[in-house]
Amino acid sequence: MKAIDLRSDTVTLPTPKMRTAMAEAELGDDVYGEDPTVNRLQALVAETAGKEAALFVSSGTQSNLIAIMSHCGRGDEYIAGQTAHTYRNEAGGAAVLGSIQPQPIDFEPDGTLDLATVEKFIKPDDVHFAMTRLLCLENTQAGKVLPLDYLEEAGKFVRRHNLAFHLDGARIFNAAVRLGVEVREIARPFDSVSICLSKGLAAPVGSVLCGSTSFIKEARRWRKILGGGMRQAGVLAAAGIVAVTEMTDRLSEDHANAAALAKGLSALPGFHVDLDSVQTNMVYFSLSGLPVDKFAPFMAVRGILIPSHHGSIRAVTHYGIEPADIDAVLAAAGEFSSAYHGTRL
Ligand SMILES: *Cc1c(COP(=O)(O)O)cnc(C)c1O
Repeated sequence: MKAIDLRSDTVTLPTPKMRTAMAEAELGDDVYGEDPTVNRLQALVAETAGKEAALFVSSGTQSNLIAIMSHCGRGDEYIAGQTAHTYRNEAGGAAVLGSIQPQPIDFEPDGTLDLATVEKFIKPDDVHFAMTRLLCLENTQAGKVLPLDYLEEAGKFVRRHNLAFHLDGARIFNAAVRLGVEVREIARPFDSVSICLSKGLAAPVGSVLCGSTSFIKEARRWRKILGGGMRQAGVLAAAGIVAVTEMTDRLSEDHANAAALAKGLSALPGFHVDLDSVQTNMVYFSLSGLPVDKFAPFMAVRGILIPSHHGSIRAVTHYGIEPADIDAVLAAAGEFSSAYHGTRL
């Protein structure tokens, strides 16, 4: 039985084309800037994001950390969402390694940060306070796409307050596909943008950080300090080139599968899905009148991996998940609902 793994789009395996490209990649020493395949990927992603330059890095976590450390120094502060990856899921890296203080703020239900609230958290120039230098947004945020007009407004806001502006665009291609716009339109207001190749785009490893030439020069130094200077990294970048040239359009299939899953689940007794929040490849749902702790094991014995965290359950669609898999998940979830709904817990 094939496992239907809905834990994350990070579980995607490289495509046959990626494996061929990796085997045949032209290589050099990237710490010397001499790996032609890395250079090709960086030029391609910089162009796609509408930025002057780009840097291939080992992970999205390293990319965000390098960005924060390039924008901020010791004793500075960055503002990010309370549940933002840059704050919550990167093990406090900016504080641990950069001596940079985070200021988390609750996300609005649509994944934005309310700018009036952000304004209240920008510290005045006073010896008591860290110096607020940077605002970080995330797009997509829990699968939600930030509105373009909000990004423009936030861009004006940061310039008015003399802040740098970073986008954790791990899934920026999902946002672009959903909006039907170019990635560069989403990236435009930002000074720096981090893009993951190893999520829905199915590359095995790597992210790309984009920004101005001077920013990327600084970022390259931090990458080296963090141990992220890789040598014949073109083996990995070759898969990244396939990811950004051939794997972006198909994200709409993941979005359609997520929408079908959301719709099907919402029809089951005891399952609650906020359908408005299902905009790309993620479905968040909760259960009521059903035993939450029994759900993941029930699905697992049917070959479906779908974990729950604190009562909320997330399913992520991706390359390798087909419409028939969604049918199988809905059938199993339906069985779960019939088995337990209306029973005393
Ligand atoms: C996955 C992810 C990252 C980090 O990427 P890794 O390659 O896993 O380190 C950063 N931001 C968001 C929003 C992500 O989903």
